[in-house]
Amino acid sequence: MDYMMKMVIKDGKKSLFWLDLWIGEEMLCNTFPLLFRLEQYKDCCVAERLVMVNGEFCGVWDWRRRPGSIQELNELFLLLQVCQNVQLGDGIDTTCWSINDSSDFSVAGLKQKIQELTHSTPNYRFVWNNWVPRKVEMLAWRIELEKIPVMTLLANRNIDVGSVSCPMCGDMDESVEHLFVSSGVARLVWQAVSSWCKITSIFALDIHDLLDLYKLTNFPKRKAKIFHAICLGSIWCIWKAINDLVFNGKPIMVESIVGEIKTLGYLWIKHRSGETSLLWEDWCMFKV
Ligand SMILES: [Zn+2]
Repeated sequence: MDYMMKMVIKDGKKSLFWLDLWIGEEMLCNTFPLLFRLEQYKDCCVAERLVMVNGEFCGVWDWRRRPGSIQELNELFLLLQVCQNVQLGDGIDTTCWSINDSSDFSVAGLKQKIQELTHSTPNYRFVWNNWVPRKVEMLAWRIELEKIPVMTLLANRNIDVGSVSCPMCGDMDESVEHLFVSSGVARLVWQAVSSWCKITSIFALDIHDLLDLYKLTNFPKRKAKIFHAICLGSIWCIWKAINDLVFNGKPIMVESIVGEIKTLGYLWIKHRSGETSLLWEDWCMFKV
């Protein structure tokens, strides 16, 4: 259990926006490291960043340059969620000691905070899988909650993102469903995954169908968990390929996405599931 000094916000003038603990269980500089890097005035106070405009508190930013990468927009999107219900008032900020018994704040705490603040307790129960890296789980979880900066989601929130068409085919809005489920690239990737893992072809309408695919297989428990890991890895690799296209101009190649799913999956399962004797040849035929 950690005891931490926490600011109790009144007018927000004594509390440092990034460097004090005043919302959630961690300083914002740690939760949003990329945005903190872009901040011009690292020691700005809460009242300088949250300003009353037309009766509502809005974020007022002073970036060294505008957040631009997917990762930076991701952080901005989450930061806006975290701050959206903050109210500043009269009086001077005070400090108190807070008790934090959450040893895994960055994931569990932030997740809970965001759900509290957005009042969205989704009915869908996201299943975690510790045979893939944390960042891979987190991406799928955020996609499930539609918390990734898919261009249309940002456009809906009046964040200027330029074009809202899909970077792969250019003729559709870029939505979670389109990018990961129904786009030509996504379909080809899932087709390749299903034939590799020898399951009947994948029929998915939305991201939940993809995340729940492993439940529809007749695989024994361990094999089903491996297949679930492959599905999470596929979402990760599709997302990476889209990022490479948008930010590095690297053309999308379905074969290389599928190749990466196999390679990464092999490394993860071999090292994380205790299957150290797993052979690459067996993996390539999904003999697990
Ligand atoms: Zn498209």
